[in-house]
Amino acid sequence: MAKKQTTVQLPGYNCLRCEHRWIPRKPDRPIRCPSCKSAYWDRPVTSPQQVTRAKPSKKES
Ligand SMILES: [Zn+2]
Repeated sequence: MAKKQTTVQLPGYNCLRCEHRWIPRKPDRPIRCPSCKSAYWDRPVTSPQQVTRAKPSKKES
């Protein structure tokens, strides 16, 4: 007896901020997440731009 998984891949989107998943009405890319209203729903919360501050360069003496 094979375990039949009915995993239907819907053309939905996944918000990386609140992990909300939804199916858009239009084929275009949604502007914002309908749940958290974030326009950066397709970007992870930890942006790579904040990593540049992690350098302890205290040699000014
Ligand atoms: Zn969201």
